[in-house]
Amino acid sequence: MELFNLKGRVALVTGGNGGIGLGMARGLAQAGAALLIAGRNAAKNEQAVKELAGLGGDVASAVADVTAADAGRVLVKAAVERFGRLDILVNNAGINQRKAPQDYSLAEWHAILDANLTSAFVCSQAAFPEFKKLGGGKIVNIGSLTSVFGLSFSAAYSASKGGLAQLTKALATAWAADNIQVNAILPGWIDTDLTRRGRREVAGLNEQVLRRTPAKRWGTPDDFAGAAVFFASAASDFVTGSSLLIDGGYAAEGLGV
Ligand code: NDP
Repeated sequence: MELFNLKGRVALVTGGNGGIGLGMARGLAQAGAALLIAGRNAAKNEQAVKELAGLGGDVASAVADVTAADAGRVLVKAAVERFGRLDILVNNAGINQRKAPQDYSLAEWHAILDANLTSAFVCSQAAFPEFKKLGGGKIVNIGSLTSVFGLSFSAAYSASKGGLAQLTKALATAWAADNIQVNAILPGWIDTDLTRRGRREVAGLNEQVLRRTPAKRWGTPDDFAGAAVFFASAASDFVTGSSLLIDGGYAAEGLGV
């Protein structure tokens, strides 16, 4: 369908080498977009490029740490040098560290805020002039259920993801007149490296997630392909500042137990 066609469009996906980022990258590649995926791990980048190229995508990767002060500028420049333009930015890279709020060092707090929230701001700032040149653009921020709820063992993460939902609204209102749509996806509990670690560290997490999630399963990275294409394509041209829960009904479960 033409509305969802991304042929000729170029996307930058931070953290596109695994997990949810790779699931979204698969969708974008299948819809025809050229992709630059960014992550710190060169081997993971290479493996993901191979897989995405197999889907017919024109794909490149950049070894980058999004917490570096110049990461946004460097990545946007790399996308434009490789593909000639930038239409879509997916701010997906993220980390967590699970502990009681009173136990975080200031350095740990900053590391999480920098990776999850500041990086999205910095990359969006860097993308803005390229979007202006093209007369529009799309930003997709990956929030979390913790954009809405709190998690007792993830204070810094929850703060970063709450901030990301508000950043989404602020950028959406600031740049709507520039034809730049900024939206957020809020994943529920998704089976990735991040939550595999979480299941090891938090007793009973697996059982609690399965009990409360009406769909009775963990989400998979491929559950994000469709929403990524929607928010990256002309299909969402009048959608901005919104947050879409992809959580198997978790947040809608009234009993909450
Ligand atoms: P993964 O750990 O599988 O993937 C995280 C990705 O981010 C990897 O590609 C990683 O690549 C990249 N990354 C992390 N830190 C940096 C950094 N400093 N610079 C560049 N890249 C970085 O986790 P998920 O796929 O689960 O997480 C993806 C996003 O989804 C995150 O923002 C997370 O908070 C969010 N999310 C996940 C949920 C879940 O249940 N899984 C629920 C809600 C939100 P590399 O290691 O190569 O740097």
